[in-house]
Amino acid sequence: MAGSADDERLSPATRLVLAGRHADWTGTPGAPGAVVNPAVWRASTHLYPDVAALHAGKPNEDGHFYYGRRGAPTQWALAEALTALEPGAAGTVLYPSGVAALAGALLTVLRPGDVLLMTDNAYEPTRNLGRGLLRDFGVETRWFDPLDPAAFEAAICEKTRAVLLESPGSLTMEVQDVPALSAIAHRHGMVVVLDNTWASPLGFRALEHGADIAVMSLTKHVGGHSDLMMGSASAGPDLYRRLRLRSQQLGQVISPDDAALALRGLRTMGLRLAQETSSALELAKWLESRPEVAQVLCPMLPGSPGHELWARDFSGGCGLFSFVFAGGSAAQCDAFVDALQLFGIGYSWGGFESLVTPLEPAAIRTATTWPKDHFGVRLSIGLEDVADLRADIEQAMAAWRAG
Ligand SMILES: *Cc1c(COP(=O)(O)O)cnc(C)c1O
Repeated sequence: MAGSADDERLSPATRLVLAGRHADWTGTPGAPGAVVNPAVWRASTHLYPDVAALHAGKPNEDGHFYYGRRGAPTQWALAEALTALEPGAAGTVLYPSGVAALAGALLTVLRPGDVLLMTDNAYEPTRNLGRGLLRDFGVETRWFDPLDPAAFEAAICEKTRAVLLESPGSLTMEVQDVPALSAIAHRHGMVVVLDNTWASPLGFRALEHGADIAVMSLTKHVGGHSDLMMGSASAGPDLYRRLRLRSQQLGQVISPDDAALALRGLRTMGLRLAQETSSALELAKWLESRPEVAQVLCPMLPGSPGHELWARDFSGGCGLFSFVFAGGSAAQCDAFVDALQLFGIGYSWGGFESLVTPLEPAAIRTATTWPKDHFGVRLSIGLEDVADLRADIEQAMAAWRAG
């Protein structure tokens, strides 16, 4: 086998299969012990034959043994696979969670006295980085309306060093004009950090669309089985080197067992995303026709907010979308969620199983408003049969109507 995941002529589906399977790490076919997947390589200490070799290991390069904090082939294979899937990336740093990846990226590009602009639709723990960690380190965070590039530019000042985007917003699905916002940011010498968890590089080529650092919570689509926490940040050569150094300074390392699970998840990510997208789109269309529903927030659905930008910039979607009820109360919304039989009630998304949470953005927004009387839910559509899911939602609508 000589096919390479770096071969741009191969489609993403093929690259998902090839990525990270280095002969150095899996064995050369024919050699004893040659396998498909890199072994789970548990190591704190790497041993050297002599002092000269110990010293020679010191340069901080990828794919070189030195000490466990710099990883071993299982983690390197995953990082290499993610880099191969992100056009424009020179490397990928792995983190123990998506939040750790966002914190790592922001701590790489910001210094005390800097200002960070953050999209108002950002995931709540991401907002908390601005309100907590970054504030304590002398960085001020200001939030902006994700759908208003002019307001974004007006919010930039001399101290603004970076912007954090999350497109679409993982709760209320605002699609940002990443190329336009990135062009503005770059004109002002800022670094663009994009949380690309929703689309993954299969659905949105973050760096090609202007982002400087593409962050993902691998907990979602890459893991795909709700049994793993991990994050990643991919970037071009200079930022990649700085991300890696900062992560090593923070002492962050992921376990080889988790890396092996993530690699396993990655192999089927394309198929899962395609199925989840198709089921989500079918349900979103059906929900749009329901009298109980005021608005479906699903960028993949024609007519839904953000669809034009999605159609222009994205090549895929996923199973995560939201909808708002036509009136009703919080209690009715809760009754709907409680009545669902096939949807688990819980955080996270992107797993093989469907999940639901009530939509409660009003309290955390500062640059935009979400009407307090708009109740709705976020659905993460899994791999169940779509007709079963639709029937389940339909019977739960009766609970909503009964209040
Ligand atoms: C879940 C999530 C994160 C955080 O990832 P964890 O792995 O749970 O820390 C970040 N961004 C988005 C959009 C998410 O949905």
